[in-house]
Amino acid sequence: MEMQVYVSRYSPERDAAPRLESWNVEVHEGARILNVLEAIHRKDPSFAYRSSCRAGQCGSCAVRADGEPVLACTEEAKQGMVIEPLDLPVIRDLVVDLIPGISNIPRIATCGCETLPSPEIVAGIRPLRDCIECLSCVSICPAMKVTDFFGPTSMRAQMRIALDPREPGNRIREAISQGLFTCTSCNRCWRVCPKSIETPGKAIEKLREIANREGLTLPRHQEVAELVRTSGRSVEATKPTFLEQADEIIEPYGEVKLEAGFFSGCLFNARLPERAFELLEVMRHAGVRVIIPKDQICCGSPLIRTGQTSFLEEIQNRNIRAFQERGIKTVMTMCAGCGATLKHDYDTPFEVKDITEILTITGLPPIQPLPVTATYHDPCHLKNGQQITREPREILSWAVERFVEMPAQCCGSGGGVKSGLPQEAAALGELRKEAIQKSGADLVVTICPFCELHIQDHSDKPVKNLMTVLVDALNNTRKEPE
Ligand code: SF4
Ligand code: SF4
Repeated sequence: MEMQVYVSRYSPERDAAPRLESWNVEVHEGARILNVLEAIHRKDPSFAYRSSCRAGQCGSCAVRADGEPVLACTEEAKQGMVIEPLDLPVIRDLVVDLIPGISNIPRIATCGCETLPSPEIVAGIRPLRDCIECLSCVSICPAMKVTDFFGPTSMRAQMRIALDPREPGNRIREAISQGLFTCTSCNRCWRVCPKSIETPGKAIEKLREIANREGLTLPRHQEVAELVRTSGRSVEATKPTFLEQADEIIEPYGEVKLEAGFFSGCLFNARLPERAFELLEVMRHAGVRVIIPKDQICCGSPLIRTGQTSFLEEIQNRNIRAFQERGIKTVMTMCAGCGATLKHDYDTPFEVKDITEILTITGLPPIQPLPVTATYHDPCHLKNGQQITREPREILSWAVERFVEMPAQCCGSGGGVKSGLPQEAAALGELRKEAIQKSGADLVVTICPFCELHIQDHSDKPVKNLMTVLVDALNNTRKEPE
């Protein structure tokens, strides 16, 4: 079959900037990107790309396909695909300089002693040792774009070393000096890793736990943990909270299509209760009976992300009890961080669904779309944490006339970075501002409260929660003449 693709061409001696070149090549059905690159190379031997094992084991053929890092030898080629180098310094065409990234990966320095890792330790190390050093994770890490962070695979190696009894001493101070606390917990490195190495949860959070045991947690993170311990919330209330004001059961306007408990999360509860009330209004239109247990508390995400887990179990048990005692079978979240935490860090006797998953099941009555051009900011804990990207776009398409995409990237508000390292958070917020400006949208829509507040600080366009936009559109619909 004939396939058309676009490949990036760049020669530093000849070109001012990379350019996309269109190629039509003959490949077999189900061809991998590497087959396409080989076909192009046969026609133009000056075209440069890198590959070795052809079996997903050496990591040398990593490229970006339609913007996403992939291994060329395992990813299927598609008509019209855009194939570019990883976002690392380019040597030529698709070949990037891997040396700086690979030299940042710490290597074990064994003590020469007789101690060998036990089977349990080997089992603990296994999820961290499959790295093929493709540097896909390094190429997309937002923290590395604005700080001197050594990167996800360096932290992965630090944790692998920390678990190994053959390594003498303790390298936690080294990991901190290499940027352990700059990681925003965006989880992007996990999602692009061809070996599915869960670096944020299995390495970075665990290293932060070691740092915590050694008294090295950032002072601001310690304050947040103390607030959770004493108040059950990770933020101070600046007004009467949602949980103080809301009724315990909210009935829909029409028939009950579905019943769900609502886990509000600290920010909606204590800082943005009006958003949570907008969610209730949308649920009334959607036919959802909402139950709001008043004894729910912080989900514990700020503690897990910053490695302060000493009283986490108590929090988890309390939240599970709050919903279980009311016979709730489905718990609905609107905060992406709470949703990801309840789904991945809890063992719940109920199912957890994001509000956008629920709304795409129930639907809404026909809405008159608002006359705006909107773009959507993917919250990391929704896109990477829960792999939810289609649903919010579908729902937004009900409420606005025009939609434009912008590249997904962490806004900088997660992982304790906004509280602990505000300059880094601000630098990432400014990168979002540039992307928003390039998109041409006149409205930015998101759904995570942390993203909403942080992007508002860095955007000259209005930033609204998806629930606010839906309520605006529902009100707009009511005003439309018959
Ligand atoms: S979670 Fe995000 S910020 Fe942290 S190391 Fe991975 S890509 Fe970088
Ligand atoms: S951790 Fe995964 S994405 Fe990062 S270099 Fe290793 S294999 Fe590649």
